[in-house]
Amino acid sequence: AKKSGRNTYAFYDDALTINANHKLRLAVELRQCVQNNELALYYQPQVDLVTGQIIGVEALLRWHHPERGLLSPIHFIEVAEERSIIHDITRWVVETGCQQLKAWHDAGAPISMAVNISPRNLADVTFVQVVAEALDKTGADPRFLELEITENTLIENQANALRVLEQLREKGVGIAIDDFGTGYSSMAYLKRYPISKLKIDRHFIKDIQSQSPDEEEVAIVSAMIAMADSLGIGVVAEGIETLHQQAILHELGCTFGQGYLYRRPAPAADIGELLGVEND
Ligand code: C2E
Ligand code: CA
Ligand code: CA
Ligand code: CA
Repeated sequence: AKKSGRNTYAFYDDALTINANHKLRLAVELRQCVQNNELALYYQPQVDLVTGQIIGVEALLRWHHPERGLLSPIHFIEVAEERSIIHDITRWVVETGCQQLKAWHDAGAPISMAVNISPRNLADVTFVQVVAEALDKTGADPRFLELEITENTLIENQANALRVLEQLREKGVGIAIDDFGTGYSSMAYLKRYPISKLKIDRHFIKDIQSQSPDEEEVAIVSAMIAMADSLGIGVVAEGIETLHQQAILHELGCTFGQGYLYRRPAPAADIGELLGVEND
């Protein structure tokens, strides 16, 4: 978060140790952020590693805090989850993402839109409805919408998750496992749940960045790609920062990539320009 230029999140650098008071104030402010129109989505391209084409974007939440400037979710999502504010926020994220998806499709850019979903959302029995309403309201094509969840989300919500995810898949919505390889799970879930994509966590990608990466580190990424392939699941490498990483991933047969090498998350207008479509 420190790398984000002038609008830094430096104020919250010690966010992980924020005290109870601070959390309380944050929660009060967070409750207002949707109504006050303080939330924004930034978008980061996902590219085809063979053609270099942008095939989709991931929507990343930002909070334009009235005093503190632009905040990354790492500074407020946890508090939002604890206070159940996450339900309002996710509703806003899914709806706004769908709206932008529809706009880009109408403008002639048939890309996909990935949005991040909290564990709490999957425990919510009305969650399928939230997504269905957003699709309905915006007219976005569900086959281009993808929900990113973590492995731990599945573990925490075993009872509800399967039903929710199956209902979403039936509508055509994609399910991506975010930060793949960092969770606690057994991987048996890859068979049990209707997963359409794996996103290899950037820590594994970081490991292969040196000119002579350890063979083991390349082997792990290679195995993840092979496993996804054999299960018929798409695979995205996260956090690609160098051409060298890109070259190795390409060689390993990884289909898609995402990272600062291509583009940092940016407002819709900037991404629209990149896509060569008109902005409104
Ligand atoms: P994530 O889903 O794993 O998203 C990727 C994060 O890595 C983003 O941070 C992105 O800006 C950053 N990133 C992208 N490319 C690179 C790279 O090449 N190098 C490095 N070092 N970092 C890269 P961001 O936007 O600060 O988001 C942090 C986390 O907040 C996300 O991690 C996600 O877990 C959560 N988040 C973001 N948007 C939402 C949302 O709408 N709802 C919920 N519940 N969580 C969200
Ligand atoms: Ca994500
Ligand atoms: Ca991730
Ligand atoms: Ca390592």
